Amino acid sequence: MMQDAFIEKLETTLAELKAGGLFKTERLIAGPQGGHVDVALNGEKRPFVNLCANNYLGLANHPEIVAAAKAAMDDFGFGMASVRFICGTQTLHRDLEQRVAQYLRTDDAILFAACFDANGGLFEPLLGEDDAIVSDALNHASIIDGIRLCKAKRYRFANGDMDELDDRLKQARSDGARTILIATDGVFSMDGHVAKLGAICDLAERHGAMVMIDDCHATGHLGDGGRGTPALTGVEDRVDIISGTFGKTLGGGIGGFIAARQPVIDLYRQKARPYLFSNSLPPPTVAGALKAIDIAEKADDRRALLASHASRFRAALTDAGFDLIAGDTPIVPVMVGDAERAQQMASALGARGVYVAGFFYPVVPMGKARIRTQMSAALTDADITFAADAFIDAGKQLGLI
Ligand SMILES: *Cc1c(COP(=O)(O)O)cnc(C)c1O
Repeated sequence: MMQDAFIEKLETTLAELKAGGLFKTERLIAGPQGGHVDVALNGEKRPFVNLCANNYLGLANHPEIVAAAKAAMDDFGFGMASVRFICGTQTLHRDLEQRVAQYLRTDDAILFAACFDANGGLFEPLLGEDDAIVSDALNHASIIDGIRLCKAKRYRFANGDMDELDDRLKQARSDGARTILIATDGVFSMDGHVAKLGAICDLAERHGAMVMIDDCHATGHLGDGGRGTPALTGVEDRVDIISGTFGKTLGGGIGGFIAARQPVIDLYRQKARPYLFSNSLPPPTVAGALKAIDIAEKADDRRALLASHASRFRAALTDAGFDLIAGDTPIVPVMVGDAERAQQMASALGARGVYVAGFFYPVVPMGKARIRTQMSAALTDADITFAADAFIDAGKQLGLI
């Protein structure tokens, strides 16, 4: 029986979050994910233009992916009721691993329940207390947690600060590190910019370090063939380990992966704890991801539309006087100041039929709250115009512009 005093403490914490404008609520979508979504409000469905899904290529409800998932359910069933190494590996799972490896041009790949788990299991099997990890300060929470689970020494450099990275690498060497791994997001999802992978690989080579990239916000829609930030920045053969997700561009289902050289993947199969001790991905999800890669690889038309939406939307908001973070991805963050302002802006946009989310502490630093918008190939040109007009109208109402 939980003690009343403990429950009261939790209630106080929740009340503090609400008082600080930091309390997150969830709206209910009453239909599929897409460029337009129906939101359930007071027993009604209201249509919104959706600017906050990770549905970059618009594949989350693609009919061929839905059909592939249904067919796999008929042929392979609903669930596996096993981890991979006991009796949870179907031909489908190996097909997807080999397809990811072929797509990203690595020896092999290994599946996880999510990229959060992939990053959780990425470091500990490879590195021990004689080794070092040098990590960008803006890296995703799952990388931070994965590093915490590993005994390697930790070094951090300010986001994109190559001088500091150089210093940390020297430091790690002079502290006697045996193996050094640099860890970075390919795209920093809160700011929407691409890591300086060319410079990172140069420094890695100079100091004899390896490079790991979490490419969740890039695989499928950035770079040639959608092969992500290594392809975009021309470092495909200089990166050692890539982690990624099937929960964003590649169908938006669930599942994560790590792609790397054969012995790396082989060791993960023996030792990565989230792989060993968690259930195998369900067949429909695996088949959907396979189909999503087939579509994404050939989707130059969708990638072009996505890029055109991003530049049109950026231009419209910049011209109107909004404060944006500069970038070259379909993530367009509109800065608003504090958390309460972000919530007010999100609801003012909601009232105008645009679905966005305010991002604020602890997801981004205090005072750097924002509306993070994300473009999608599921959106039309008219949707982009509609959304930009709504931002301008709401921004004037709240005195942001
Ligand atoms: C979304 C995301 C993850 C988590 O991916 P899931 O498959 O949803 O667990 C990890 N890293 C980065 C950079 C992400 O954007």
